[in-house]
Amino acid sequence: MTGFVHAALGAAIGRYCKHPALAFVVGLGSHIVGDIIPHHDMDIGETPLVFGTLAQIGRVHGWKSTQFWGALGAVCPDFEHIPYELKKDPRRFEPMKEKFIPTHNGMLPHNKWPFEDKWGVMLNFVLFIAGLWIAGTLVTPSDKT
Ligand SMILES: [Zn+2]
Repeated sequence: MTGFVHAALGAAIGRYCKHPALAFVVGLGSHIVGDIIPHHDMDIGETPLVFGTLAQIGRVHGWKSTQFWGALGAVCPDFEHIPYELKKDPRRFEPMKEKFIPTHNGMLPHNKWPFEDKWGVMLNFVLFIAGLWIAGTLVTPSDKT
């Protein structure tokens, strides 16, 4: 998945975890599942949306909430791409042995979207909205009182 989808789905899963640490670990696992499901990846330009999503989840649910820690766990694995992005390593779009996450180093498949890109982009936004809706994030803090 692309980062902001990982964040939204991690928050959704986190909602059903009893403890932030558990939510973080389950979020990490959801990253691997999300990478195996065929998906359309967006480029480094989505980074502001990833951090914006994390910030909104933290603002709505609190920084110690299971939603926030689930989302953080789901996003964290992609941080290992950052050094190679910054170095513009020519291998950075391929599986790399140096990476730790099985869907990034080729131990598990990282499946690409097989259909037209526009449907992949649309699916990303559907999963994003659905994840945030399940997580209970699509309200402002004042709505919850
Ligand atoms: Zn990944």
